[in-house]
Amino acid sequence: MHTLQSYLCGSWQSGQGDPQPLENAVNGETVAQVTSRGLDLAAAVRHAREVGGPALRAMTFEERGKALKSLSAAIHEIREELIDLAAQNGGCTRGDAKFDIDGATGTLAAYAHYAKGLGDKPYLLDGEGSQLGRTARFWGQHVRVPRRGVAVHINAFNFPAWGMMEKAACSLLAGVPVIEKPATSTALVAWRIAQVVVESGVLPEGAFQFLCGSAGDLLDHLGAQDCVAFTGSARTGEIIRGNANLVKHNVRVNIEADSINAAVLAPDVDESSETYGLFLTNVSTDMTQKSGQKCTAVRRIFVPREQADQVAQDLAAELGRISVGDPTERENRMGPVAHSGQLEDVRSGMAQLSEVAKAVTGGLDPHPKGGCFVTPTLFQAQDGSAQVLHDLEVFGPVATLIPYDGSAQEAAALVCRGGGGLVTSVYSNDGDWTAEYVLEVSPWHGRVWIGSDRMAEQALPPGMVLPGLIHGGPGRAGGGEELGAERGLEFYMQRVALQGFKGFLQTHFG
Ligand code: NAP
Repeated sequence: MHTLQSYLCGSWQSGQGDPQPLENAVNGETVAQVTSRGLDLAAAVRHAREVGGPALRAMTFEERGKALKSLSAAIHEIREELIDLAAQNGGCTRGDAKFDIDGATGTLAAYAHYAKGLGDKPYLLDGEGSQLGRTARFWGQHVRVPRRGVAVHINAFNFPAWGMMEKAACSLLAGVPVIEKPATSTALVAWRIAQVVVESGVLPEGAFQFLCGSAGDLLDHLGAQDCVAFTGSARTGEIIRGNANLVKHNVRVNIEADSINAAVLAPDVDESSETYGLFLTNVSTDMTQKSGQKCTAVRRIFVPREQADQVAQDLAAELGRISVGDPTERENRMGPVAHSGQLEDVRSGMAQLSEVAKAVTGGLDPHPKGGCFVTPTLFQAQDGSAQVLHDLEVFGPVATLIPYDGSAQEAAALVCRGGGGLVTSVYSNDGDWTAEYVLEVSPWHGRVWIGSDRMAEQALPPGMVLPGLIHGGPGRAGGGEELGAERGLEFYMQRVALQGFKGFLQTHFG
């Protein structure tokens, strides 16, 4: 069995005391164990600031970009091994594992590409300069410089590869060293990737550290130049945001939490259209990919009242075609949820939903295959009045169909009752209806995905996060923002307004 270690201060280290087991969600067997108790995390923070930061900043953006490209290639080389580990610890089918692992290598490669346009200066220009005085002699120019601290990245269990490397890509390219902390329950894949990153030798010492197990007192050692990027549940996000040391030192915090994402079918979409087919495919993929354990998965499906029963039947038929079983068997398209604690949470959430909606397919009966398997479950509510439909994230293959009156206004009002989301998707070929809807929901979302006949053939699904577009959302979704090409570097850099003689600024900061 693997005993997972942490890579801190230049060496692999084990914690002390009782380790936490990591389970195989198919049969409950322990596949690895981990503890971080007793590790010197204050020393790790100093190591990043004093060794990793200066070494990274001595490299140009282009050199750091090349390092990201090498990391992408090194991780890709062990893709098959990682797919296997993701099945053992996480219950991922081959497709689910690839989604995570290729997401990691793809994002690293994308940031390697963005690096090429960033020049070889130790700063980035931020917009055009502007005249401040009577003549152009007194000039102002915004620039961005790497902060002098460490970026602590705390990740969720559902994307051990992508979650870790999308954050690392932005931070390392910005010139800020990282301490990566994966969720303990599915740390096996992240640990193996960390080994590859360290063994590759492409990053200078101190630029990449890896904390496997609980975060312990890590946050208590952070200061004004450090930052924390967290992905996980709203509850943990709240605890982290409220950490007394982070509050005291105004440590930058980015929270990517959960959201009750919605898909909306507009009344103009008839059942023979390409858009309707796209809607059914995307909703059923979103509900079942990674067994519904995606922050961007659809939880609420809004359908015009007259079409609700037909759509419920069509979706149930789509879900019925998805074979659920051992993720290592290629014919299975959905594996179990990641671990037994997750299964309990999903079942408790389904019980709450069943008080306000009826199951069209699936339901609360235990899955015949045992383990942590869950039958894909579609609930149907009478209407959207019960707030639990808009508040409760059941982090599994579960969603609720909710009828609405067919107007863009009502669809938007119901969607926004989710209190802020990562993504919402809308399916329509009526431009005016769609534009009205999009304007209403945009203040409450990080991303709005607009499906129609015209783009159906080329569309990537709404659940897919892309490095070139921002990821995050207001309110309930955490209020954070990541990625978005060069925008992803901003969190790790200080924007400073320089004011002075134009000639000086243009020579040294132009
Ligand atoms: P979680 O229980 O909130 O844990 C997330 C991370 O926080 C883990 O690494 C966990 O470590 C750590 N953590 C827990 N308590 C902490 C504390 N007091 N101080 C510092 N770190 C702490 O979430 P999860 O169950 O892993 O992930 C599922 C949730 O994440 C879902 O709600 C999902 O919607 C959300 N999610 C959001 C996004 C997004 O991009 N917005 C992406 C993926 C998932 P341990 O594992 O060691 O406890």
